[in-house]
Amino acid sequence: MNTLLTTGVPSAQDIAGVTPPDERRKRGPYATIECFQPIPCDPCHHSCRFGAIQEFEDINDIPKIDWSKCTGCAVCVAACPGLAIFVVDETYGEEECLIAIPYEFVPLPEKGQPVRLTDRAGIVVGDGTVQRVVSGRKPAGTSVVWVSAPKRLATVVRGFIPRKED
Ligand code: SF4
Ligand code: SF4
Repeated sequence: MNTLLTTGVPSAQDIAGVTPPDERRKRGPYATIECFQPIPCDPCHHSCRFGAIQEFEDINDIPKIDWSKCTGCAVCVAACPGLAIFVVDETYGEEECLIAIPYEFVPLPEKGQPVRLTDRAGIVVGDGTVQRVVSGRKPAGTSVVWVSAPKRLATVVRGFIPRKED
């Protein structure tokens, strides 16, 4: 069954297809493009000045990334109108990873703010902390919030709910 069509949440197989191999994950931050359906959209390709997101032959193509060219800069995260791109850095710390998440709510959270981490279905899966906030430049740019999370959740966390400081 295609869980993406029935629940809006990609399957483990979908996710595996957009996650780099272990060897790349250990080398530094990488983008993961969770855009699974053909739609007429390509700002991700045009936003990447490193040429990591392949040129589209057709505007409906599903984006393809070359992780050997990706620096993890997260410019594509801000450029994607579908909020479908994330950057994950599994080299951030011994116990923690860093995840760049597109964020369209206001007010923006602040650096140091604790958050409840959520998965792709919006289920709370753990606790994290805001490490960096990059305010979007309207109309084209979405704000990007970098949160630290337990490393075991690197491929799970794709959202968060801000908490008041304890
Ligand atoms: S994170 Fe930066 S280098 Fe990597 S694909 Fe996105 S824009 Fe390109
Ligand atoms: S910009 Fe975002 S929604 Fe559009 S094709 Fe690229 S990844 Fe998909």
